[in-house]
Parts: sequence; C-alpha cells; structure tokens
Amino acid sequence: MTRILFATSEARPLVKTGGLADVSGALPAALCEIGEDCRLLLPGYHGVLGGVEGARELHRFDDLPHPVRLLEADMPDSGVALHILDAPHYYLREGGPYQDADGADHPDNAERFGLLSRVAALLASPRSPLAWRPEVLHCNDWQTGLAPAWLKFAGGGARSLMTVHNLAFQGIFPADWVARLGLPPESFAVEGLEYYGNLSFLKAGLHYADALSTVSPSYAEEIQSEPLGMGLQGLLARRRADLAGIVNGIDTAYWNPRCDPYLPCSYSVRGLSGKKRCKAALQKDLNLEADPAAPLLGMVSRLTHQKGVDLVLEIADRLVRDGAQLAILGAGEAGLEAACRALAQRHAGRAATVIGYDEGLAHRIEAGADLFLMPSRFEPCGLNQMYSQRYGTPPLVHATGGLRDTVVDATPENLAADTATGFVFEAATAAALQATVQRALALYGDAAAWKRLQLAGMRRDFSWEHSAREYRALYRRMLAED
Ligand code: ADP
Repeated sequence: MTRILFATSEARPLVKTGGLADVSGALPAALCEIGEDCRLLLPGYHGVLGGVEGARELHRFDDLPHPVRLLEADMPDSGVALHILDAPHYYLREGGPYQDADGADHPDNAERFGLLSRVAALLASPRSPLAWRPEVLHCNDWQTGLAPAWLKFAGGGARSLMTVHNLAFQGIFPADWVARLGLPPESFAVEGLEYYGNLSFLKAGLHYADALSTVSPSYAEEIQSEPLGMGLQGLLARRRADLAGIVNGIDTAYWNPRCDPYLPCSYSVRGLSGKKRCKAALQKDLNLEADPAAPLLGMVSRLTHQKGVDLVLEIADRLVRDGAQLAILGAGEAGLEAACRALAQRHAGRAATVIGYDEGLAHRIEAGADLFLMPSRFEPCGLNQMYSQRYGTPPLVHATGGLRDTVVDATPENLAADTATGFVFEAATAAALQATVQRALALYGDAAAWKRLQLAGMRRDFSWEHSAREYRALYRRMLAED
C-alpha cells in the first residue's frame, strides 16, 4: 500500500470549475478502492467547509501573518480522507476559486496558491506536523506547482509527481513574487522557476518534480513540441524520460446505457434494440424525419475552433444531401453557434442544432446517434469519445491526444481482429473528415460488421479503476527509483 497525498485546488462534488475537479473527485477514490492510502488536500473555500460534516482540527500554524489551520474530514460520497487548508483570509471569498464575482483573477492568487503549495510540501516532508506521511506527493496543475519546488528546497521527503491537466494555465506572476513568497533567489533561473522574466508555478512543478504526467500518452508526446507545448516544450522534451501519459477514466455509473435515467429505453451488449428506440425518440425530439435507415451523426461539444466544429460545418451540406442526419448540441463562439443554427434552418428535418448546455440531451445524443463526431484539432484526453463507445455509438475522431489513444480505427486488420471501435483520421482538414465519414457510412451499410464495431466499443474498460492501476504503477516506479 502506497501513501499518497493528492494536492489539488478543486474536487467534485465540493468545488468545480473544470475537468481537474472530476479527476480529483474520482481518482483518489479509485486508488483507495484498489487498496492504496490516498488522501486529498484542498483549500477551505466556502463550498468545501460547508460541504463536509464534522471537520476536526489537526494543526494550527502560529508563524503566519493570518490564521491558518489544517482540518480533517471525509469527502462526501467517496469517504476519502480530506485535509482542508482552512485559511479564511485567503480562501473565504466571493466568486470562484480563482476569480472574483466579476471574473477578474484574485489579485493575491500567487500568495493563495503559494500557501497551498507550501503546506502540501510541508506535509510531504519530515517536518510535517502530522503523524501520517505520504510517500508520494501528487500535484495537479499550476495551483500546486510550487510544491515540488518547496519540497526540494526543504531537502526532500516524499517523491513528487506533477500532473498537467491543462497546459493553457501556467500560473505566471511578476518576478517580485519570488521574494514575496520567500523562494530562494537562486531558484529564479531558466533551470528553475523563471519563465521569460516571470515566475511560473507550473514550470516550477515541471522542473522540480521527480516525475511528470499528463492525461494521455499521445498528448504527452505532442506537448514536447510546438504548438501544443505552449512555451514549455523545451523543458518537457528534456524531461521526456520522466513524462508519462495516463488516460482519465469516466464515471461508468453515470454513463451507463443499461440504467441511464435520461434515456427513453435502456440497452446493453446483450441487446441493442433499445438503442434503435433511443434513435427514434431522438429524431422525434429534435424534429428530424422519422427514418430508421438514415445514419444519424451526433456531436456534443463546446463550439470552439479547438473542437473542429468548422470542419463538420464545411462538409455538412454534402452529408445531408447524401442522406445522413445531423444532431448538434453545443454552446460557444457566436460565429459557430450562428453557423450551426443556419445549417439546421437550411435542412429542416435532416439537421438539428440545439444551442445551450443540456445534460439530458447530451446522454440522448450519445445513445440515439449512429456515429459520434469529434474532430478536435487537439484534445488532451477527451471524454465524449469514451462515452460514445460505451453507448454503442462508434466515434469518428481526429488522430490527436487522447482521441488517438482511446479509439481503435476500423482498418481491415482491426475489424478482422474485432478490436476496432471507431474511425480515426490523420489530417485536421475537411477533406480528411469527409473521406473518413464516407468510410464510416460504407461500413454502416454492413449491419453485421457495424454491430461488431459497436459491441467492441461497449466492452472497453474506461473505468477509473483502470486509470488508478496505471497511476499506482507509476507511483511504484517513482518509489523504486529512490
Ligand atoms: P472539454 O472538457 O474540452 O469540453 P471533453 O470531451 O473532455 O471536452 O468533455 C466535455 C464534457 O462536457 C462532456 O461530458 C460533454 O458531454 C459535456 N458537454 C459539452 N458541451 C455540452 C453541452 N452543450 N451540453 C451538455 N454537455 C456538454
């Protein structure tokens, strides 16, 4: 059993702004399920203090300018042990974890997450005030990026892992924060936490941590060069031997066609007739023609350039003319929203667009569509392509990041081996997308082959347990290097 301290700035169900909260809610629980001793460290925001029961004081810091305490509680639902960094001056604020009610960054974020990082490092060091000592300090994104640095400056302790969930946010602050946070002046160097004249929390983590990871093996490769490295490609390439890629899991209870309360009927690998009824209901819901034979192509996505929505729009008229139907759910950039609406107006009864965020409809599209489109230009991990495989709706994806790693292309060899689960295209162009949709629709015409493709996807294991086992193996490798 390995003792792991999972330091994070958000975790479902207590506080969420993005995918990090899903991972932080699910992965520690999955690690505990497979017998590891994983505990969480979270800042004491309103939602955290109000969302747990019976928090107990573990320690009080007397040497800081503002009151800071460590509390202990259990995560709701999972019961995972939770350490709360209770510092009202820093974390009890109006607005979100990072921004005020008007959407502006809190002006002292360097200090707020500097404290979180520093306490995480302390708890992982021999000077910890707690009896429980982690062997691995698992840090996540820039908010805990200074922790591996502090741990090194303090002379070591636990082994540290820095995981990147979103490379777009790097926690960059003016250089005077180096002194204000009490960081050693010599650490402000290219071989340290300096980033083009500023302090970067994420770079600190990537430089000082013992091991690095991100959310898929292909994305781990892609961020070692431009453009996806976002300025950190040099460092990531130098540390490639220490950089792992582990695909996130999905919530297999919430995304389960056997018992999904959002669906009009259930189905499973034992019988797919319910899926046909889901398709008919979706066509009716979205005012599409009641045509069981027409291939129905679904998309659920933020409507942004990253997601390749424009590529779908480029080929949509032709698809509809060739007899396909389209169902698009999403919200995002105004121009793309307008173009999706216009498409539906041009092809009433053959193309439908719903602008907005609709959890239930997202499930009904995953279930009711025949093919799921996900032509993202880049995708660190991606979730929808895993949901769609589980729902017997083969995904059609661009070969990037987690999409490349989770979808097995329907090549003749993969089809023969019964391993194919979807369709993959190499170049992010409308022509490549078009050709691959044609390839998919040709196979759709072969009912037996199509069913094998559906069943192979439905049988894949995208559970958090699977991901947790990979993290466990990574922790063990880190400890073996000692
Ligand atoms: P990203 O996090 O980049 O948006 P992912 O595929 O990793 O992409 O996750 C997107 C999640 O958000 C999925 O659970 C998807 O179903 C959901 N989603 C995206 N847009 C919508 C929408 N308009 N309505 C409902 N769910 C949506």
